Amino acid sequence: MNSELLKDKKILIVEDDLSSRLYLNKILERTGAILLNAGDGIEAIEMVTDVPGINVILMDIQLPVMDGYTSAKKIRELGLDLKIIAQTAYGLSGDMENILTSGFDDYIVKPIYSGQLIEMLESCLR
Ligand SMILES: [Mg+2]
Repeated sequence: MNSELLKDKKILIVEDDLSSRLYLNKILERTGAILLNAGDGIEAIEMVTDVPGINVILMDIQLPVMDGYTSAKKIRELGLDLKIIAQTAYGLSGDMENILTSGFDDYIVKPIYSGQLIEMLESCLR
């Protein structure tokens, strides 16, 4: 599914679970987006610092080394113009407040479906 809006956009996938990471890459590689990957919150910050022009971060919440909340907060402190979307397994169970106060623009609840993910990324970049 090629996407005019996602084509050549830089998307950073932050996910520690390898099969989930492969799954997200598989969905998004068909859109023509440029995909980057990080496995924990510190790696995500390093990637954002090292690679210019990242448009969207798809950030898992439960991550080793540094969790998604802390990582998102620190990335926000860099003052870059990018969107951060949380991927959460918890749905609406009290994590919402944390998500909204940590600097995320939006969230998506796992399990993540391809159509829903692409739609969300498109509306986020529109
Ligand atoms: Mg995780």
